[in-house]
Amino acid sequence: MTLPAASADGGTGQVPPLEVTPLDVTLSEPAGPVPAPAPVLLRAAGLTKVFRTDGGPVHAVRGVDLTVRLGEFVAVMGPSGSGKSTLLHVLGGLEPATSGEIWLRGQRVERLSQARWALLRRRHIGFVFQFFNLVSNMTVADNVELSALIGGATRREARVRREELLAELGLSAKADSAPSRLSGGEQQRVALARALAHRPSLLLADEPTGNLDSANAADVLRLLRRSHEQGQAILLVTHNARAASMADRVVNLFDGMIVDDAPLAAVPARPVAANVVELRG
Ligand code: ADP
Ligand code: MG
Repeated sequence: MTLPAASADGGTGQVPPLEVTPLDVTLSEPAGPVPAPAPVLLRAAGLTKVFRTDGGPVHAVRGVDLTVRLGEFVAVMGPSGSGKSTLLHVLGGLEPATSGEIWLRGQRVERLSQARWALLRRRHIGFVFQFFNLVSNMTVADNVELSALIGGATRREARVRREELLAELGLSAKADSAPSRLSGGEQQRVALARALAHRPSLLLADEPTGNLDSANAADVLRLLRRSHEQGQAILLVTHNARAASMADRVVNLFDGMIVDDAPLAAVPARPVAANVVELRG
């Protein structure tokens, strides 16, 4: 399967076929066919975000080119204020871009109407934030189930998915509790279940362990790793070196720009994510 790549054609709408060069073959690997890189899931080209404030414009994202492939796990690191959250919000359609292109599953999305993009987002993107953001007047079960329903599942599918996820995340006993009765670590696991309930193509996670103690952070990381092993693509903003070390690639942001984007020299364990090749606009 080959999804079209984003064009660098200034937006003429012509989408050239994906061209890749296998740069990242580990030399010590036994000779054999190089697995084809996974299709492009998300691509940003020349992305910028400027906030207009009373104190003048704030250039939070300044020309980001980024590709995330199907099943790939990319960590985004960088100092506070470097634009990590803004980048994630813009990529996920929570904030409009100021300029640049965003392609999701081969479709250019940043020019869609709010309503159409919201629809795509509900189906294909899951969000996890630092502060959980659960719906406080709904039970844990309903928080998860609603997300599946909004993502297009039938009632039965949503219930099955909710039961499966809560069991997997060790939360079945808390299904009927209000989120406020749960510990921070439990709430973040619920938030993760909610983000994964509609089987998104891409999970966007903004410092999901930033507000947790180390045991709970380790738990959340383990769950992220497991979902990645099951094929989940993840774009994770983190300060946590251990979290970043689980990723296929680490992108470093500084002053709204990518200053480094490198695959980790891990043994390629997952065919879909191995030998990742970067396309830069
Ligand atoms: P990070 O997540 O890396 O800490 P942010 O994306 O939150 O960085 O912020 C990047 C820059 O954009 C900072 O200078 C921040 O003050 C500014 N910024 C973020 N959100 C807004 C906003 N809504 N209005 C104005 N400035 C903002
Ligand atoms: Mg942030």
